[in-house]
Amino acid sequence: MIPEVSIEIKYLGGPVSDAAALVDVDWGQWQARLLLDCGDGRLRSLSKSEIQSIDHVLFSHFHMDHIAGFDAFFRKNYSRESKENHLWGPPGADQILSARFQGYLWNLCETGPNSSWWVHEIHENRILSFRRELHDAFQTVQEIFSRPREGSLVFRTEHYSVEAIDLPHHTTSLGYVITESDRLNFRQDALQELDVRPGPWTSKLKQTVTEAVSGRRDPNELFEIGEHSEAIGEWKDRLFEVNRGRSVAYMTDFRLDIPTRERLTDFLKDRHYLTLLCESQYAEEDLDLAKNTAHSTCQEAALLAAAVQPERFLLFHISDRYRPIDRDRILRQAQTIYPMTQFAWENSVS
Ligand SMILES: [Zn+2]
Ligand SMILES: [Zn+2]
Repeated sequence: MIPEVSIEIKYLGGPVSDAAALVDVDWGQWQARLLLDCGDGRLRSLSKSEIQSIDHVLFSHFHMDHIAGFDAFFRKNYSRESKENHLWGPPGADQILSARFQGYLWNLCETGPNSSWWVHEIHENRILSFRRELHDAFQTVQEIFSRPREGSLVFRTEHYSVEAIDLPHHTTSLGYVITESDRLNFRQDALQELDVRPGPWTSKLKQTVTEAVSGRRDPNELFEIGEHSEAIGEWKDRLFEVNRGRSVAYMTDFRLDIPTRERLTDFLKDRHYLTLLCESQYAEEDLDLAKNTAHSTCQEAALLAAAVQPERFLLFHISDRYRPIDRDRILRQAQTIYPMTQFAWENSVS
């Protein structure tokens, strides 16, 4: 049975346009919104309030076609105090993004709201965070914070996690995976067996187990239900069934050679109900161009999909050297290997 939709990714453009995608994680009353890259004109279809509701911007890298539209985001949010402002990218992100912040005259903003902007650089083994302020015209770093990075994890909230993988592009391009947290449901039969009257402990236990599952609490901690005392992890196994969270993945601007395919296959396989967006800059016969520019062909992208078996597979970032008729051929070349392949369009939501 397909679980109810709670994470979706929407590509903001067509297969040939500059890159950007929007991810919504929806948990009932609560919602998080993440923007992946911000190419030229990509926010055109979003309303002001939609742009203001974006919580995080995750950049793959800073080639112009991935950041040229950033001002549309920055203009709507530069003085934002209602949310924290978080931008993420590969090493060197602070230098490039602070230059963007400083590229304007801020003399009218020395009083009034004083928003803080965090730029987080995702290094292999640590996350380096820089905070700058509007009142200071973003001139100086107010705070630097370094924390170790655990594997691929970038950050985790109660409701979702963000992971990144380094991809080769004559520089580092980051591929991202966003995964909604697993959902926990009480097993009614196990509750009856326990023979304890339902009460406030049920929601407290669910909250406690949720925190343990997301790594924010030790699963060996004891939790008491009536006369019974057991480790949180034991209660989880005994009283809950776990519905795994879905994942969306965004992989762009990289050389998808065999070692990278193997690394990505390990990273992406066994994800639950995965939607994979993957660049496909060149047609199969233009492999040399792909090698020279550190991009990928549609055949290489489709071979990755065949190894990973995502539920949805969408190609984007096709070179504008191809005419529409060539693009159809590119799609067919990929479909020969992975029949479910489609192009990413603005209206393709998953
Ligand atoms: Zn690039
Ligand atoms: Zn690009």
